[in-house]
Amino acid sequence: MGRYIGPVCRLCRREGLKLFLKGDRCFSDKCAFNKRPNLPGQRGKFGQPARRKVKDYGIRLREKQKIRTYYGVLEKKFRLYYKKALRTPGKTGENLLQLLERRLDNIVYRLGFSPSRRASRQLVRHGHFMVNQRKVDIPSYLIKPGDVVSVREKSSQLDVIHEMLKKRGRIQDLPWLQLDKAHLEGRLLSIPVREEIPVTFNESLIVEFYSR
Ligand code: SF4
Repeated sequence: MGRYIGPVCRLCRREGLKLFLKGDRCFSDKCAFNKRPNLPGQRGKFGQPARRKVKDYGIRLREKQKIRTYYGVLEKKFRLYYKKALRTPGKTGENLLQLLERRLDNIVYRLGFSPSRRASRQLVRHGHFMVNQRKVDIPSYLIKPGDVVSVREKSSQLDVIHEMLKKRGRIQDLPWLQLDKAHLEGRLLSIPVREEIPVTFNESLIVEFYSR
């Protein structure tokens, strides 16, 4: 599965909010969005209206792009998640967020093993993690309740993981994830309900976008 390889800070500026795509930098003064919250490119540069008035379609499109960018999923895959969410009983928007949250790269990030989802994806791809004691190197692998995600023995000395665990205070503890720092592992306790997913996106706009 492909991934976006262009400049990421541009994406935050495009969406008009911090999407925390770069780890440490996002929490520092170097954050490009803090310095230049205007649109990227010519429109932002020449001081034209920072945010144009957008119609309903545009609002829905932008909300979809925000969530997609936040979780680092390309359009094709995102659409597949939407179709899966649609087939699942319950609210489609909530189902969609649950699927995105259950991705292995997201769980690794939420547990505090990596500074960003992008970094998680790379760590997973490089084979540093196991699910239920079996090596899994697929970032989109969906974790089920009860599954244990752990750092592989040979990767247990990786600086990036230990550095991040020290800074874990800045990551929100979630009631549906249990971290065992000593054993470098975490467990998904349950599938989170909407209120337990710490994002402020309006997922119903995505449902409206795809069902138009
Ligand atoms: Fe976005 Fe992080 Fe770049 Fe700031 S540093 S613009 S939050 S990716």
